[in-house]
Amino acid sequence: MTLNAQHVTGNTIGITATVPVEVVLAAGLKPVDLNNLFVTSKHPKKLVTQAESAGFSHSICAWIKGIYSTVINNGIRTVIAVTGGDCSNTIALGELLVRKGVKVIPFEYPLDRSREALLAQIEKLRETLSTTWPEIEATRSRLKSIRVKLKRLDELTFRKNVVTGLENHLFLVSSSDFGGDPDEFEKSLDQFLAETVKRDPREGEIRLGYLGVPPIFSRFYETIESFGARVVFNEVQRQFSMPFDHENIVDQYLEYTYPYDINGRIRDIEKAVSERKLDGLIHYTQTFCYRQLYDIVLRESLSVPVLTLEGDRAGKIDSRTAFRIETFVEMLGDKDFF
Ligand code: SF4
Repeated sequence: MTLNAQHVTGNTIGITATVPVEVVLAAGLKPVDLNNLFVTSKHPKKLVTQAESAGFSHSICAWIKGIYSTVINNGIRTVIAVTGGDCSNTIALGELLVRKGVKVIPFEYPLDRSREALLAQIEKLRETLSTTWPEIEATRSRLKSIRVKLKRLDELTFRKNVVTGLENHLFLVSSSDFGGDPDEFEKSLDQFLAETVKRDPREGEIRLGYLGVPPIFSRFYETIESFGARVVFNEVQRQFSMPFDHENIVDQYLEYTYPYDINGRIRDIEKAVSERKLDGLIHYTQTFCYRQLYDIVLRESLSVPVLTLEGDRAGKIDSRTAFRIETFVEMLGDKDFF
């Protein structure tokens, strides 16, 4: 299944990572998550090669290269670059894009999770995009009703067991930009939720959690399910959907775990382990990404077995990775193993 394809229009604004999307939509702009546009394009591998031909070194992460080519090929004129709390490569990427005539608006999540600093960043973004606080709050309340439905979809995944890991991933990962059109997004979501009522619950599967940046592989979730397991927790994608209940936008984006220190993520993952009865976790890491270092902390801190995978190029999951997942699932199913 795929969600509606994104089309770039005159008022499209690219985002390199999750930003307070309420501000963008309140300004009448159409956000497009460049990661999603890259990885769902017809030939993501070619986009990476294109960036390498433009001079990007082999040792730069494929997402950065894919984002660069995606912006250039789609003629995207304005990009919000998350230069703090996401990826330090984005600082240099932003400078390169400026040289290509793209308007780049930096946005930073404060490392120390300071309320004042985050408020100042949102205020700066509001001013740059020329919108008002009442418009932002109205948009936030509009999106809240969609976020509640996404929370329901997530619960249908791990409580009722009627949603696949891929379906969960696709809807939650798309909530970073709501497909650029919240009304259309909500329609697809409503349709999907109505369809799940007719499904029989899945039983007897190994229950997995998926940690880390979304996978660059295709056929990832399907491969896991072919071995009798299912992902019932997509950590970062769920964070994009912000299933939180807050009175204002600043608190909402302070609870978002991904841009801040690892301890918030660990608390969130441990809660999922017990609430969702997870048998094991898959930690996906991206080749050449500094976030690989977090693998050490996650392995030391989490209470269930962790399989660490590494992906480099976009494309179908390779047989070695598939074999490692199969072995991990077998091991989790063998109660004598532990
Ligand atoms: S995977 Fe890592 S290196 Fe690549 S864009 Fe994301 S944070 Fe940056």
